[in-house]
Amino acid sequence: MVSNERPNRFEKEDDATQNDEAVELSSSDAPLFCLRCGKHLTPGSGDFYLVRIEGIADPWPPSISAEDLADVEHLASEMQRLIEQSANLSEQELMDQVYRAETIFLCTPCFRTWIERPAAE
Ligand SMILES: [Zn+2]
Repeated sequence: MVSNERPNRFEKEDDATQNDEAVELSSSDAPLFCLRCGKHLTPGSGDFYLVRIEGIADPWPPSISAEDLADVEHLASEMQRLIEQSANLSEQELMDQVYRAETIFLCTPCFRTWIERPAAE
């Protein structure tokens, strides 16, 4: 069965939504606009892109040198510092530091420019 639900709104909330999929593909009538040029986008017209961006903090385990391991005191104080640092942050802020996911809409011309150099200013 084919769903006629369309991705038709850009949802960006401070408290990350638990079910992004449902939000993005909701059938709300909220208008869509290209994030770069502001052009009005019409769901079903095939003239725009839904772009999902995921940012994941360095997923490799921390590199600890033999020197670090030898200096247990330094290692312990460094861990203590990190724990104290994170104590001041909310759960959401901590999550945002390691994982961010955004969904944006771009019209076809803007998408073609953007995808070639996504990190351009
Ligand atoms: Zn555009």
